Amino acid sequence: MLKTLRRIIQEVASAQDFREALNIMVKRVAWALDTQACSIFLLDHKRGEYVLMATKGLNPHAVGKVRFPMTQGLIGYVGEREEPINIDDASKHPRFLHVPEVKEERYKAFLGTPLIYHRQVLGVLIVQQQDPRRYDESEEAFLVTLAAQLAANIAHAEATGVIANLFDAQKPKTGEVTYSGIPSVPGVGIGTGVVVFPMMDLDAVPDREAEDIDTEIRMLEAALAAGREDLRLLSERLYPNLPLEERSLFDVYQRMLDTTDLGAEIVNLIRQGHWAQGALRKVIQKHVEHMENLENEYLRERAVDIKDLGHRVLLYLQKNERIMPQYSEQTILIGETLTATDLAEVPEGCLAGVISVRGSSSSHVAILARAMGVPTVMGVSDIPMYDLQDKEIIVDGYYGQIYISPCESLLDQFVRLAQEERELDASLESFRDKPAKTKDGHRVTLMVNTGLGADVSLSLAAGAEGVGLYRTETPFLIRDRFPSGEEQRVIYRQLLASFAPRPVTMRTLDIGGDKSLSYFPVQEDNPFLGWRGIRITLDHPEIFLVQVRAMMRASEGYNNLRIMLPMITDVSEVDEAARLLKRAYADVIEEGFEIHMPEVGVMIEVPSAVYQARALATRVDFLSVGSNDLTQYMLAVDRNNSRVANLYDPLHPAVLRAVLQVVEAGHQEGKHVSICGEMSGDPAAVLLLVAMGFDSLSMSATSITRMKWVIQQFTFKKACKLLQEVLSMESPVMIRCHMELALEQVGLGGLIRAGKR
Ligand code: PEP
Ligand code: MG
Repeated sequence: MLKTLRRIIQEVASAQDFREALNIMVKRVAWALDTQACSIFLLDHKRGEYVLMATKGLNPHAVGKVRFPMTQGLIGYVGEREEPINIDDASKHPRFLHVPEVKEERYKAFLGTPLIYHRQVLGVLIVQQQDPRRYDESEEAFLVTLAAQLAANIAHAEATGVIANLFDAQKPKTGEVTYSGIPSVPGVGIGTGVVVFPMMDLDAVPDREAEDIDTEIRMLEAALAAGREDLRLLSERLYPNLPLEERSLFDVYQRMLDTTDLGAEIVNLIRQGHWAQGALRKVIQKHVEHMENLENEYLRERAVDIKDLGHRVLLYLQKNERIMPQYSEQTILIGETLTATDLAEVPEGCLAGVISVRGSSSSHVAILARAMGVPTVMGVSDIPMYDLQDKEIIVDGYYGQIYISPCESLLDQFVRLAQEERELDASLESFRDKPAKTKDGHRVTLMVNTGLGADVSLSLAAGAEGVGLYRTETPFLIRDRFPSGEEQRVIYRQLLASFAPRPVTMRTLDIGGDKSLSYFPVQEDNPFLGWRGIRITLDHPEIFLVQVRAMMRASEGYNNLRIMLPMITDVSEVDEAARLLKRAYADVIEEGFEIHMPEVGVMIEVPSAVYQARALATRVDFLSVGSNDLTQYMLAVDRNNSRVANLYDPLHPAVLRAVLQVVEAGHQEGKHVSICGEMSGDPAAVLLLVAMGFDSLSMSATSITRMKWVIQQFTFKKACKLLQEVLSMESPVMIRCHMELALEQVGLGGLIRAGKR
């Protein structure tokens, strides 16, 4: 059975497209179980209906056409029960639904199993047979095992919008379509869809229709010829040193790029309407998957070479045709995994909204969008993103809703809400120069998080009283090598000068996790639990020393520098960093710079640091809570993973208690305690942080005036009362509701939904 199972999975994986994959599934399963019919019904969540998507044994003309409500029939029953249903005579079952179009009258025996991925029913796989009988245990187990594996393929097709496209292809096109994701940056964005995808990544090439088939074929042929020429030159250069076997491989690869071999397959797909890049991806993926599944190890390893051939040809295809996205004046940027560079490439003032298929509200790209004040929805996994180019789109960053091609009345409504948003922001202008003080005089310092693109003038204009977190990664991310000490000094000095005499907290390099440098790749199974932050820089004192010396030199004459250490999990890391900092200071003084030793602090962003906050506080001048990472590590929820984003909430009672414990520990040692995670710009959290006694809160520039507004509407006494109330609550949802209600009651509802009120 295992062999059969493996073979089916392999064949499904090498299918040209999803529809073919479904057809292979039903044919092979029917054959493996020696049964007369096998069919797949997928659930169209939007319409709450099961749709027959593939069949062997039922009416093939019903595929894509027969739909019935998810609450009806035996299919609905399997979905509801979320377990296999095995019946000897289906027609006698009370849930049997006669749908004449499918022509199943002759079948009696029925075995159906749900296709479930991450607790969500995606569809139902059934087998049927004419003789009344119960399928035996091993058949049932086989079907369940297969369904579990196939569900992952279906989930992938759903995530990339393929299924939505299939469903949409069946139904008449009418009006707007709505999708939902994770609300990540509040606000309303209205504009035109611009889809971006990473260059030189074969797997990321989207499916698109060829605009002109002959042109696509010509481009492909040129790219294939260039690829062949590359290989010829390579083999010529290496020939004298190559063993015979490798030499003949080069010849084979050259031949594969011939227009009669792989080339012919690609051309074939182009003729069917695919653009050249998409056709190349499909053919290469098919061959790679096939080879990876071969028993022969030598041949299996050749899959890498086929991938390389594909990348080589893609390079030439894209070189001839580096399509710069056509940004519109109101661009809604859409991508599978958007990067900071994607956002930065949009011309200034043209970015109206961001939609990302992957990621969640605490991904770094969402943090950047927040710093830029651009309404953003992350983790919109079912959106058919490649169909959204040039479509009119509304992004509701409050509720995480996306409206495609909205009708006039909806558009009018959102245009009005967006206008109200602007009015709200304008009315908050008056708060800009006022201190963040509660009604009864409790003062808290509001600082800005910068480094991920938020510009300095925006921060100062928003009334930031300093920089609470400067993410120094940016100068490292935008180069193809480590920036030199002098390059760093110039960048740091600009920032220190712009904010002087206000303090500027510079965090030492915090790469790893979801921030990797192309020229310093770190491949790990578990990057967030791996080599990141201080772990890397202590292992590379040469990187650390160059950076902190550059910071210190840059501070001459301003003396407003504070240095902060990320991802501290143990006091020994602080001791080691302190030793290096002292050494750097001595070096810089010896060079003749006249500077003070900067204040040094640690970030509290992992649970171990919470429990050792007091010991850490004795060693440094300040503590700063990194609530983004602290939430992910306390709750064991990857901050970038949209599948578990519903579990990620800094208002979780455990996170609140941890944060409170840090403030108390820091203050017991008489040290300044701040918080620089996104939590401080969350209207539902800010009052709790004030009540906990944080000395300063650091947030995105665009949040500062809004949070000032919140703080000024409450007394410190009321904030403390709210904190006491939520500390007795057990669920993050209740806590959020409680805090949002408090905001509503003083007329601050405009901060949690679109519009003014
Ligand atoms: C944090 O983890 O809260 C933080 C501020 O750092 P980053 O988001 O850059 O990881
Ligand atoms: Mg962090």
